[in-house]
Amino acid sequence: MPSLLVDNIGELVTNEAGRGEGGPLGIRRRVAVLVEDGEVVWIGPTADAPAADHRIDAVGSAVLPGFVDSHAHLVFAGDRAAEFAARMAGEPYTGGGIRTTVGATRAASDGELRATVRRLRAEALRQGTTTIEIKSGYGLTVVDEARSLRIAAEVSAETTFLGAHVVPAEYATRPDDYVSLVCGPMLAAAAPHARWIDVFCERGAFDADHTRAILTCGQAVGLGVRVHANQLGPGPGVQLGVELGAASVDHCTHLTDADVDALASTRVGEEDGGTTTVATLLPGAEFSTRSPYPDARRLLDAGVTVALATDCNPGSSYTSSMPFCIALAVREMGMTPAEALWAATAGGARALRRDDIGVLRPGARADLIILDAPSHLHLAYRPGVPLVRQVLHNGVPR
Ligand SMILES: [Zn+2]
Repeated sequence: MPSLLVDNIGELVTNEAGRGEGGPLGIRRRVAVLVEDGEVVWIGPTADAPAADHRIDAVGSAVLPGFVDSHAHLVFAGDRAAEFAARMAGEPYTGGGIRTTVGATRAASDGELRATVRRLRAEALRQGTTTIEIKSGYGLTVVDEARSLRIAAEVSAETTFLGAHVVPAEYATRPDDYVSLVCGPMLAAAAPHARWIDVFCERGAFDADHTRAILTCGQAVGLGVRVHANQLGPGPGVQLGVELGAASVDHCTHLTDADVDALASTRVGEEDGGTTTVATLLPGAEFSTRSPYPDARRLLDAGVTVALATDCNPGSSYTSSMPFCIALAVREMGMTPAEALWAATAGGARALRRDDIGVLRPGARADLIILDAPSHLHLAYRPGVPLVRQVLHNGVPR
């Protein structure tokens, strides 16, 4: 495969702590990056750059690792713009609207679902997202969950079985039976297409016992654990996720001190085991439901590993934009621009237990963003502006 040199980089964010300025961002200046076979093979001063078959001139701009969006729900049909408008007119968010999307998703053809997934995947890539996790969870039958994951797996290796998104209407009076279905035939049909299992652990969705039962079944067939936890109110999700060794607990909007301590405790032994449970914050959801934002500052000060993701879904956060989430995190959640960028790249990689993405070093995947800006600071400083000039995905310019 021909080699490619990205040259004249003004500021390179490597996320290699200690290898440059800016602490964890590992910023290097006036460098070039050589890419071969989808991997970074060399980083060094522009003046020392080796010859390559192709060259991209970054003209002094900032270059960063591609965004890692570790939480998205892209397999659905229909939209809920009217529900959004009603909410902005004063109606509260309850999570009940998920069933609206379930009806539309079940009625859609494979081709319609595939077209939506591909459209949103392309939309995210244009905004710099080179890795995106995709959940099922709008089918809620054996057949519809399996096909959702099959279609998701066509565009991402990071697929998550979320049969336990909500109890579907036909099981409303017998949730135990639905949990049995999720743990039995639905999991069996979904697991071949999934890397992860997830549960919406929330009042009105799944309680602690159901969540534990479902996640444990998933672990038994080799799926990694993630949890939707503590979004709408305090609850058992975060501590349950920590107990089960979840890669990530997501939302984390309503946390007790014990929840924060539990998350911080998973950092112990991080270097030799990879057992950290990441707190993935999803500010697009608070924005779109006009709810209080999670307190990222409290988590960071306690030593918790924090990721940022979009939660892209048609009900509570219909954004695929990681730069938007970075801007919200900085403006509304007490994060510095550097912390937010790290969380949207290296943090997302940790939430997916990956060390080949979210970082730029020899051997890492050549997933990177060339900004139309001299510094990564502009992502939060210039909110809403399309600053992503070019994306390399697996070393291929997009
Ligand atoms: Zn979600």
